[in-house]
Amino acid sequence: MKESNTDVLIVGAGPAGHMAMTWFARCGVKARIIDKRPDSRFIGQADGLQSRTIEVFQSFGFGDRAQKEAYHMLEMCFWEPDANGNIVRANRMPDSTIGISRFQQSVLHQGRVESFMRDSVKKWSKDTLKIERPVQATSMKVDESVPESDTDAYPVTVTVKHMKEDVAAVNQYGAKIANGLFRAFDGDGNAEKEGEEETIHAKYVIGCDGAHSWVRRSLGIEMNGESTDYVWGVMDGVPVTDFPDIRSRCAIHSAESGSIMVIPREHGMVRLYIQLAQVPIDPEKSRIDRSKITPELIMDNARKIFSPYKIEMKFVKWYTAYQIGQRVATKFSDSNHRVFITGDACHTHSPKAGQGMNVSMMDSYNLAWKIGHVVRKLAPPEILNTYEPERKKVAQELIYYDYKLSRLFSGRPAVAGKSENGIDTKEFHDYFEKGNGFASGTIVDYRPSILVDKPEVKYLGEGEGDEPYYSPLATKAPIGRRLDTVQVMTQCDTKPVQLADVMPSDGRWRIVYFSGDIVNNAQLMKNAEAISDVLTSPDSFVKKHTPATCMLDSVIDVLMVHASGRWELEWNTIPEAFRPVDHYGRQDYWNVFADDKPYHFPHGHAYEKFGIDPSKGALVVLRPDGHLAKVSEASVDGLKEIEQFFGSVLLEQKSSWKSNGGYLDTGKELEEWYGIADYGSPVLAQ
Ligand SMILES: Cc1cc2nc3c(=O)[nH]c(=O)nc-3n(C[C@H](O)[C@H](O)[C@H](O)COP(=O)(O)OP(=O)(O)OC[C@H]3O[C@@H](n4cnc5c(N)ncnc54)[C@H](O)[C@@H]3O)c2cc1C
Repeated sequence: MKESNTDVLIVGAGPAGHMAMTWFARCGVKARIIDKRPDSRFIGQADGLQSRTIEVFQSFGFGDRAQKEAYHMLEMCFWEPDANGNIVRANRMPDSTIGISRFQQSVLHQGRVESFMRDSVKKWSKDTLKIERPVQATSMKVDESVPESDTDAYPVTVTVKHMKEDVAAVNQYGAKIANGLFRAFDGDGNAEKEGEEETIHAKYVIGCDGAHSWVRRSLGIEMNGESTDYVWGVMDGVPVTDFPDIRSRCAIHSAESGSIMVIPREHGMVRLYIQLAQVPIDPEKSRIDRSKITPELIMDNARKIFSPYKIEMKFVKWYTAYQIGQRVATKFSDSNHRVFITGDACHTHSPKAGQGMNVSMMDSYNLAWKIGHVVRKLAPPEILNTYEPERKKVAQELIYYDYKLSRLFSGRPAVAGKSENGIDTKEFHDYFEKGNGFASGTIVDYRPSILVDKPEVKYLGEGEGDEPYYSPLATKAPIGRRLDTVQVMTQCDTKPVQLADVMPSDGRWRIVYFSGDIVNNAQLMKNAEAISDVLTSPDSFVKKHTPATCMLDSVIDVLMVHASGRWELEWNTIPEAFRPVDHYGRQDYWNVFADDKPYHFPHGHAYEKFGIDPSKGALVVLRPDGHLAKVSEASVDGLKEIEQFFGSVLLEQKSSWKSNGGYLDTGKELEEWYGIADYGSPVLAQ
């Protein structure tokens, strides 16, 4: 039998697996990814891209593609029965909370979203990391005698089968129209199929293998939660209708026939989520007979709910049906932190809030950079222990949100003067509006850990989350959440840029030094010079954590955002650490930014946005996933605190800039680290 080693094996190439491989390709991690399906060419399934997801796509360099192709869903309309039982528009509101992100919720099908990630992986891995399919994982063993600290060992052994395409193909119900029924209720079977076996030894395994996760079951991890009797049909097609709000997102509660969610989509399509009042039951199994759910049955229900408006679906592209349930895995990894699960493998819920694909990708976005740091020996394995608490909290919040939203949406509405017993639609509107912040993914808040330096915070209860924690030095930037972007201007050439865009997802930590008004405040300039001296000294912590054969900003990237007028500050007065010179004598011009008004754009007001006082400044540490890890004083003392912080999350490199006397080791070939081998605006040039 063939045997091989890999640092990381990803099982499953849905959105969660795609996101994991995107990180690994970007960080140069030796990884493999397998999927038991013969191809990824499908339509249907998830479609909603939340604000945070688009921010992350932007940070990988393909947010603009998603923005261009996706349908921008900007308005939410609520319809409910009037006293005569006819549906009428009861309310409208923005679909995304105003000001929460520079991107609003958009809609694009999962297959297309995955293709953006594959293109990115192709570029960054130089086409070496490819999805291997159809390859099914069939057995897994973890050698628990190997300590977590041994990051050279390959303690996970996975047997996989390389199948032939015809063997791996899954049967579809319904001959003509593509649908998801073959997997919606039972999964598509984990039965072993014939194929050539291979044994893969891995340091780490990520189970991204969906709701019926084989990896989860192999680890004996249970799912906690419940399912309901509500059955929903989903259909994608081009509507022919006189319903006036068909190009907005709508939640329609009918008096007697159930509810519909309307999702306007790309290419003139619309997705309908339709509550199925009556579903065919298999008499033998006493459960839903999914093979009898047809587009006609789904549309019969839809017509009743839309009445008195008329609707027909033309060019039906895909349909499916599902039963609502909310469940979370009891654990997100094995006890040795060698095998992890992400995505639907650890949480399932209803798809109407557009969370499935997003939260699944964000799980992997949280985990994969940490594994990348460990296998590249940048960080100790302890950082992996933060994955479960950080993401389980999100999963639990998601389940609560979905549970409440689903019940309010699936329940029959109370109609004044007619049926008092029913759900209060006003409560539904309010809950939708309130939940939008959570649904956007932008207020995910990680608790204190070695990766988030803040005190314990107050838990405000289910549906409320934690009280945000702000440092007095940055009173509008909650520690533990992602730092929102703001426009700043390059000092060297006045170009307006989004701060987030100069800090892409490339695996690096960032220290953003808000130096304050260094031109008009002599003390602040002294602080800047002292901070620069520490950073450029031969034994600086940045040099300690950076391999000698890489550029100095390969692990920790230091940026300066000053609050002086851009035209007041002369380039050559900027302390050296912020305009470093490489071994060829070339200067890095792209790490100093002014919070000032550029020629052609309005002022960004970065200090105001983050609540930073320009007469004090602040040092801000960002994790590779953009979450705010720490805020400290803009002084040498503040920098010492940051040094301590990095002392527990990053390892001292055996052969570092520090051990090389404070310099790059030019005797060896410059090592490409996170795709950056050189200066010359590495970030802006991408
Ligand atoms: C029928 C259906 C309809 C949906 N509709 C919507 C929607 O309208 N909106 C929405 O937001 N979300 C929807 N979802 C949810 C959304 O698609 C999921 O939340 C999202 O795909 C989860 O991503 P994932 O990567 O965790 O899992 P998946 O996308 O399920 O991917 C898991 C992958 O693992 C592979 N795999 C499984 N076992 C093995 C094994 N042993 N070896 C190798 N490979 C394996 C599978 O082939 C699959 O490709 C729907 C899901 C389904 C199933």
